[in-house]
Amino acid sequence: MAEAKVEHPWLKDVPGHCLQQTLMDLDRACREHGAFGVRWRSARRWPPSFRFPEGSKMAVEKLNRCHGRVKLPKFGWVKFRQSRSLDGETIRSVTLGREGRHWYVSLLADDAAEPPAAHAAPGSAVGVDRGVVVAVATSGGELLDRPFVTAGEQRRAAALQRRLSRAAKGSANRNRTRAALAKVRARERRRRQDFCQKTANELAHANAVVVLEKLPTKNMTRRAQPVADPNNPGRFLPNGAAAKSGLNKGILSKGWYRFEQALTSVSRYTGTQVVKVPAAFTSQRCSACGHVDPKSRESQAVFRCTHCSRPAEHADVNAAKNILAAGLAVPACRESGAPSGAAETPKQEPAGNREELLLQPV
Ligand SMILES: [Zn+2]
Repeated sequence: MAEAKVEHPWLKDVPGHCLQQTLMDLDRACREHGAFGVRWRSARRWPPSFRFPEGSKMAVEKLNRCHGRVKLPKFGWVKFRQSRSLDGETIRSVTLGREGRHWYVSLLADDAAEPPAAHAAPGSAVGVDRGVVVAVATSGGELLDRPFVTAGEQRRAAALQRRLSRAAKGSANRNRTRAALAKVRARERRRRQDFCQKTANELAHANAVVVLEKLPTKNMTRRAQPVADPNNPGRFLPNGAAAKSGLNKGILSKGWYRFEQALTSVSRYTGTQVVKVPAAFTSQRCSACGHVDPKSRESQAVFRCTHCSRPAEHADVNAAKNILAAGLAVPACRESGAPSGAAETPKQEPAGNREELLLQPV
């Protein structure tokens, strides 16, 4: 660091803690991914942010009902709008970051809360199916979703995107358009986060066990691979890239991963056990008789079993019931002893079903 400061004098103006933290982050990244796998964060794609470690040494004061201030090295007192109380919590680190025109301060705090030994509603369990059309379907038959963008916002985003594509590179007009577009997108992002956290909170408070399907969102949202045309070198065959990109947008726009994160986070406070099961065939299997047939799925929303005479059901709810049954059959879940719900038969499923599910090849 001392050498770098001689070469780049502006580094002397930067708080030393932040520089050291950046070096430590870089060191860790190099050790985990190899020196050649580490790239600089592009300033174009990432908003600026920096972290002050040793938060326990930083003074945080409450000014009034909704404002507080924190003393940062080289900055002095920084006033901020305090979104919640920090009473009795230890500050671990302080991060400053910019979103659009505003700077935000995030305080990482240790609340010393221990997860409760037992859930408030022992024996309750729910299966959750995450979908592209309906964000969250539960085995109890609930379909939870909300629009994240209004029609007007969608029109405005499209118009801004068009204007952005025509603006000259590096122009002030382009920057203005980009900022306006980011504002629309940020609103959508906040609504999605709000939905994920509220839904996760509701489910975790009401259920001792929540079963999710394992979804490697990152792998699922890879772009379609180009298919080279063997008869025409240098040309490519249709590979469904547009359809795949549309599906990716659907997956990402429902915040599947964010929901999972929110659920794990809130389960620390409720004592809920989050179980993940393989997703294979959950949407093609009948939750009553266990028959697997892709034809049972009449349409995107309707599931009508081709084997038994059960009335048609919402396809996502049927999948959620399968996920619940698979989750309660996971042996690891019984060994850990934690889920009191595992011993009980779920209300939605006849008892004989779970064994049949296990016997079927997956
Ligand atoms: Zn059936």
